[in-house]
Amino acid sequence: MKVAIVGAGLSGLCCAYELERHHIIPTLFEKEKKLPSGFSYPEAIIELLERPITDIFQILSDRYDLQLHPISPINKIEFYSSKETAVIEGNLGFITARRSHENSLERQLLNKIQGEIIYNIVPKYSDLIKEYDYIVIATGDTAYTQEFQPFQTDVRADMVLAQIEGEFNPDTVQMWLNNDFAPKGYCYILPMNKTTALAAIGSPLIQSNIKEHWNHFVKNCGRQFTVLETRDAKDYIMGRPASGRIGNVFFIGNAGGFIMPSFGFGQTPVMLSGIKAARAIALGEDYDAFFKQMQRDYVLSLTMRRLWERMENHHFDSLVKALNRPLAKKIFENKRINFLKLATQLLSPILKE
Ligand SMILES: Cc1cc2nc3c(=O)[nH]c(=O)nc-3n(C[C@H](O)[C@H](O)[C@H](O)COP(=O)(O)OP(=O)(O)OC[C@H]3O[C@@H](n4cnc5c(N)ncnc54)[C@H](O)[C@@H]3O)c2cc1C
Repeated sequence: MKVAIVGAGLSGLCCAYELERHHIIPTLFEKEKKLPSGFSYPEAIIELLERPITDIFQILSDRYDLQLHPISPINKIEFYSSKETAVIEGNLGFITARRSHENSLERQLLNKIQGEIIYNIVPKYSDLIKEYDYIVIATGDTAYTQEFQPFQTDVRADMVLAQIEGEFNPDTVQMWLNNDFAPKGYCYILPMNKTTALAAIGSPLIQSNIKEHWNHFVKNCGRQFTVLETRDAKDYIMGRPASGRIGNVFFIGNAGGFIMPSFGFGQTPVMLSGIKAARAIALGEDYDAFFKQMQRDYVLSLTMRRLWERMENHHFDSLVKALNRPLAKKIFENKRINFLKLATQLLSPILKE
């Protein structure tokens, strides 16, 4: 059986790994000249937003014999709104390294697969279909997907990312919920180690002058750091295709609508989508059922996003204040509570007032 994977990123490499476990060696087509490439930066996996999954790395290891390692657990999140602060502590998730970092998820996966990667190529579907039995679209964007099928764009965001130098606790994430810094979005500092971190702001207000907001954040966030390098990510699209699979063409990762639109977290669903597509190809498992189940999570996440977009600074102040209450602590600790579902139920009436 011949399988082509278009895009050797997080989802494509997970797909290759799982196919190879079932003795199918795919060919990967990658537009970059070499991998891993790009800005080395940390990303977060926040357990509260992923429930019922509490530890994706344990699941990958136990169910799929895939051992991947984050660079740190998250044991503390500090929240700042315009007038309030809150701290939550516990097993709150993980910090991963991405792209060219020496311990990036991509690098770990590349060391585990044997399939050939053909670099510096953007293959055409019409060429692939002549040679391959299955095609997996894993491009991290929606360009191919939109050529194949109806696609609903739900969120378009601008981001500024910066590598910063300063003093950081490697297990502590800082988040600002403040429309003055990131209208309808959020800002965060995610440590890479004790001295370097990623500072980022993301806002769905496309065309807004994100650079001005960034400068305002750097001056007024109350943290001392030196900016080493800044990158813009413009018009990052989050949306959903009508189907996860059309015949023998599978859509995985961001290309399959697996990034969650509330806060743009994608790593967990994206990795799972690669594995599930591989299992559908190798074992005949039902990818459509997985796609539908993830779409339910997506819709909940989108509801959260729409509520978030209506939050004013005084709402963020109330929210951050509430995080300090004992009831909030219980919710964080009780891993059986679906936080997103509860949060959307609690926020809806407050925002109607
Ligand atoms: C700035 C930023 C911060 C983020 N932070 C977080 C976070 O903190 N937590 C979280 O969970 N998620 C986060 N995400 C989302 C997460 O990174 C993505 O959901 C995930 O990386 C998508 O994986 P993927 O496999 O779909 O795409 P990618 O990992 O982007 O891989 C796509 C690959 O396909 C290649 N490619 C593209 N087009 C073609 C083509 N036509 N032909 C061949 N190759 C092609 C690319 O070069 C790339 O190698 C963030 C995203 C961004 C942009």
